[in-house]
Amino acid sequence: MSVVPVIEADVLRRQDPELAEVLLGELTRQSTTLQLVAAENFSSPAVLAALGSPLANKYAEGYPGARHHGGCEIVDVAERVAVERAKALFGAEHANVQAHSGSSAVLAAYAALLRPGDTVLALGLPYGGHLTHGSPANFSGRWFDFVGYGVDAETGIVDHAQVRSLARLHRPKAIVCGSIAYPRHIDYALFREVADEVGAYLIADAAHPIGLVAGGAAPNPVPYADIVCATTHKVLRGPRGGMLLCGSELAERVDRAVFPFTQGGAQMHTIAAKAVAFGEAATPAFTAYAHQVVANARVLAAGLAGEGFVVTTGGTDTHLITVDPLPLGVDGRAARGQLAAAGLVLDCCPLPHGDSRGLRLGTAAVTTQGMGEGEMATIAALLAGVLRGRVDTRRARDEVRDLVGGFPPYPG
Ligand SMILES: *Cc1c(COP(=O)(O)O)cnc(C)c1O
Repeated sequence: MSVVPVIEADVLRRQDPELAEVLLGELTRQSTTLQLVAAENFSSPAVLAALGSPLANKYAEGYPGARHHGGCEIVDVAERVAVERAKALFGAEHANVQAHSGSSAVLAAYAALLRPGDTVLALGLPYGGHLTHGSPANFSGRWFDFVGYGVDAETGIVDHAQVRSLARLHRPKAIVCGSIAYPRHIDYALFREVADEVGAYLIADAAHPIGLVAGGAAPNPVPYADIVCATTHKVLRGPRGGMLLCGSELAERVDRAVFPFTQGGAQMHTIAAKAVAFGEAATPAFTAYAHQVVANARVLAAGLAGEGFVVTTGGTDTHLITVDPLPLGVDGRAARGQLAAAGLVLDCCPLPHGDSRGLRLGTAAVTTQGMGEGEMATIAALLAGVLRGRVDTRRARDEVRDLVGGFPPYPG
């Protein structure tokens, strides 16, 4: 099996050089610059093979054994395997692996539990809530009445007292815990307690940490939340997609909320690739990977603090770090551009105090490449060197290229 089947098949190159160029160009970009986007990873050749397979041709509305299309008997096996592996991996009674993305999974969770106009309590967007947690630009903000809790402006830690008081005041139908930028473990037991106190459902949007959960490096939300929403492409390292986990009592409502309520035909190539990724995530090698991701993030966070960045919450429990680069003389937005020019690819993010933008970075991708604590110290120095003007852009690009050259994401 070739590393990147579509490219190596050579078929595309002959038929459509313009698009072949794009695929090869992106492969080159990914392997010559440093991928610090916290939501990204390098999925395995086996996952890519499933994605680039003829399963992509198959229409399969419905669920295994109950499809609206003929000829589903083979792809049904892929979905059954994916569901069984997800249930075993996360200790869930039920798994739905059809959600096309993390956002689709959240939409389905709301559809399963809520009616338009219901009140939902979630982390406010300025503090790292996702678009699906009540942004006015998103269906969530338009169809539900969102109330936002925050984080402590000093410590960056979720304000649990505020969660409790807002829950008592607003009596939400659901409480959402989960974030795009929170570096610490989430206290699911506390959220469960508050939800029970006010009679709310608890939805855990574990899009980011679910891969760490799979590897035993973060607490599992499944025993606490009514529904867990997740992505399969972040730390979990599978194909781009979503999933939902829940107890048997909500299984049918969740399945109906995905299909036919919010989606049509399932993407069977992606579901097969999810099954492959769940299989990989159940191995001791993945457990070691997940713990290395966190160890690397801790070293990177400490390195950045040592270089003068203000590290939100003073560190991290996960793959994710957010920092304020202002002490280095530049805000997050400008910093992202300068760093990108040097081949250091990361994101902007909100900061707890809310005055300026910060930087968000993660260690999932670089750890997949095989980098360890030593490389994290090098990366911290490089980031600071570029922003302080100690290293010019051209030299930084060369240093990045040398560094990543030793850790090809797709050897050969
Ligand atoms: C990434 C993320 C999502 C959305 O995932 P997509 O696949 O991009 O739709 C939703 N919620 C949270 C908390 C996320 O981090």
